[in-house]
Amino acid sequence: MEITEEIKSLPEFDDHKKIFRMEDLNTGLLGFVAIHRIHGKNPSLGATRFWRYQDEAEALRDALRLSRLMSYKSAAAGLPYGGAKAVIMIRDENTGKREELFKEYARQVNNLQGSFVTGSDVGVSKQDLEVMSLASPYIIGTDINAGYYTALGVFYAIKKTLKQITGEEDLAGRSFAIQGMGKTGLELLDLLYSQVRRIFVADINSDVLNELIIKYPDITIVNSSDIHKQAVDIFCPCALSHSINEQTIGELNCRGIVGSANNQLSKAELGESLLAKGIVYAPDYVANGGGLISVVDEFKNGNHQDSRIKEALLQIPRALELIFGESNKLGLSTVVIADELASKVFNNY
Ligand code: NAD
Repeated sequence: MEITEEIKSLPEFDDHKKIFRMEDLNTGLLGFVAIHRIHGKNPSLGATRFWRYQDEAEALRDALRLSRLMSYKSAAAGLPYGGAKAVIMIRDENTGKREELFKEYARQVNNLQGSFVTGSDVGVSKQDLEVMSLASPYIIGTDINAGYYTALGVFYAIKKTLKQITGEEDLAGRSFAIQGMGKTGLELLDLLYSQVRRIFVADINSDVLNELIIKYPDITIVNSSDIHKQAVDIFCPCALSHSINEQTIGELNCRGIVGSANNQLSKAELGESLLAKGIVYAPDYVANGGGLISVVDEFKNGNHQDSRIKEALLQIPRALELIFGESNKLGLSTVVIADELASKVFNNY
């Protein structure tokens, strides 16, 4: 669709290269694909979100915002792909037509002739992804546990952050508070459990927690409203966005923050506040790039290989080392430094 002056005036618009509107009356499909940057002949990458929006304008703004974030994530992960994102609106018109809807969406992705490659984001299940992949070769992540690789990238990022704080990557004797025991939080708990002194965990879903204590008897379960207040070395936000906000920032009692959640800070300026408080922050899109790295491995090679992905994940601590070094040198927050480094990469595409 044409990028009108009205779209250009949206705060989420950042010189996006292409926007496609997708509609189908039979299935009630209505959504957008936003392509933020394009790297040479490579496709732009970003998962598909299936979410209830107030109206089309809100859906478009989400696609613009999220596709921009993907360019940052891809650049930080050292991947030669521009960022993109698709959102499909949950509407009365598509109720009860889920399979047909995702099939039609995948057909419309085919019309973009490989310029956009996508996987599953919030609201899109593994089953939906399988339906899509039967209709389109541009679907990735059907055969991979991205949650595990995201957590492994976070784990590497934790070690680098500890080095920045204590001078050593050693985990023994360290304490952690993990917010959210979902696909990534659980995997992170498993990676840390046998190596560290203490782990606090929280989730709003008590069923998950009851099962956890059997497998990991040494964890300490705390109320989800208190998890960020624990006196620990590292706080790990692995749930929803904005867990660091105007209110919670004053309640933090950690030395570093490293987690899988997207958009951990409710606004970028909080990066400066964390710096002033002496809390080392590993920027979210740098620490949580492991899922993207893993699905790209599958996309590039036709199948994924554990050893190859683990090698590629080492880009995460490398990028963090650079960011921490620049932050020390210039006295600027890690958020500012990461944004500058990443945008320099993708603005040169
Ligand atoms: P998930 O839905 O599997 O798990 C999230 C968990 O957080 C759920 O168990 C939920 O009950 C819990 N939760 C929600 N609000 C909470 C709160 N206030 N306090 C405590 N727990 C709460 O999600 P996920 O795949 O683990 O993803 C977590 C975050 O990481 C999201 O922000 C996601 O966008 C981001 N992320 C995920 C991946 C991936 O590979 N899955 C990759 C990159 C980023």
